[in-house]
Amino acid sequence: MSGFIFPLSQPWIGIVANPARFPVRRVWCVGRNYLSHVRELGNDERESPLFFSKQPDMLVPGGGTIRYPGMTKNYHYEVELVVALKSGGENVSVADADALIFGHAAGLDMTRRDIQKQMQEKGRPWEAAKSFEQSGPIGPLTPFPGLLPPVRIRLSVNGAVKQDGDTAQMIWSVPEIISQLSRQVSLAAGDVIFTGTPEGVGPVVRGDRLLAEIDGLEPLAVTIA
Ligand code: MN
Repeated sequence: MSGFIFPLSQPWIGIVANPARFPVRRVWCVGRNYLSHVRELGNDERESPLFFSKQPDMLVPGGGTIRYPGMTKNYHYEVELVVALKSGGENVSVADADALIFGHAAGLDMTRRDIQKQMQEKGRPWEAAKSFEQSGPIGPLTPFPGLLPPVRIRLSVNGAVKQDGDTAQMIWSVPEIISQLSRQVSLAAGDVIFTGTPEGVGPVVRGDRLLAEIDGLEPLAVTIA
């Protein structure tokens, strides 16, 4: 065999102060990882972490303008600390997890909340609520250990602060998330994990300007077209 019948582009994330890009293999997200957000959605506080995925080409590196998606009338922001891996493995211990980290970025887990609620009520998967075009805006990665959690994490809409939390409020820490996910799948270089959102999620409308800020990382600005 030689070559492919057509080319595919490699999804990527930028890197702070580096002209090279981080190639993305898989994108995972953690649901319900801040107690305050679990409570605002009325979910069980003692559940083990819930992982779902977005497709790598649904990331929007650097943010900018994204379009309001179809199939929703309740399109929500969720500001999240994102961790990107430079290596992987299976059954990684919590103590060994930091050694897998390439860096961190600010990201948005954009969500069709109305679809999510419908799916939950029917006991169906979240896919249509979480995994769609441009659903993962993400800022450039700051190489590890440029940022060491816990850090403040904020989201504002048109200049008004809507989410203001601290990664210390995470139910599962970043090393615990990496360790748990490595039991479910084989992790590898290029894997990216959105680590959950604090309370204060809410809807956006066309024209809204979102600003995701995590102390120690590049801010991420997004406008809804
Ligand atoms: Mn989320």
